[in-house]
Amino acid sequence: MRRKRANLILNRYESVWPIDEIAGRKPDSWQGWPASKKFALVLTHDVESAAGQDKVLDIMKMERELGFRSAFYFVPEAYEISQHILEELHRNGFETGLHGLKHDGKLYFSRSIFRRRAKQINRYIAEWKASGFRSPCMHHNLPWLHDLNVEYDASTYDTDPFEPMGGGVKTIFPFIVGDTKTDRSFVELPYTLPQDFLLFVLMQQTGIDIWQKKLEWISRQEGMALIITHPDYMKFNNGTPGNEEYPAEYYRNFLEHIKKTYEDQYWQPTPGEVARFWREQNLKIKDGQ
Ligand SMILES: [Zn+2]
Repeated sequence: MRRKRANLILNRYESVWPIDEIAGRKPDSWQGWPASKKFALVLTHDVESAAGQDKVLDIMKMERELGFRSAFYFVPEAYEISQHILEELHRNGFETGLHGLKHDGKLYFSRSIFRRRAKQINRYIAEWKASGFRSPCMHHNLPWLHDLNVEYDASTYDTDPFEPMGGGVKTIFPFIVGDTKTDRSFVELPYTLPQDFLLFVLMQQTGIDIWQKKLEWISRQEGMALIITHPDYMKFNNGTPGNEEYPAEYYRNFLEHIKKTYEDQYWQPTPGEVARFWREQNLKIKDGQ
């Protein structure tokens, strides 16, 4: 029954998911990734609740052991944020950012709500020395995001018909979102690998084939592989996964697969680093250097 449902989803969106060929187009004047690496690999995590926060350091440890770094996005007004965890992440070269303010689905209800919340979000951004933002439920309205004092936003995706807003930005590369009136800009980083919740909770996949297939395509297009996983849904220590959980081993297997298959072929920055690189590249192109 479950497999039938998964196949149904796959067939229905076959032409745009998990791969939308159009999204592989390279940006104009593209000069490649640092150190001539073939593709960029960016690891991110959304921390939905206090239970998820409790698993953050386990994930950090797993990634560190395998030689990776990532970013964790927290919801400042949904649960009590552990200063200890933020400090540990920073001390180990990991990045922290904001995942909305409350995760109540209301951030984009109206322009005035967004303006009001943006002020509060900016306070946390300064306090945490965060450089980036991701909206809850991947809601987004890119022009409004200029209200935030961030270097980058990561609330879009190349292709994901299963998200509430559907569609996608149809690129596996970062892009700059500018505001001509205020001259403000930020770098947008779409996620380009399907979310863990979709694959392992909704579709009940029991392996990482879809991640592997998409990554193989991204590496051939020399794009950015950006993944979101959720500590909340990961089950550690080989315990039996609950209703909305999957074995953390799946994520570990994927990291091991990347290491083994693509050794020396990828650049592995934090999202803030890829945003800064993108901005520098873009300025260079603009100045004609
Ligand atoms: Zn979320």
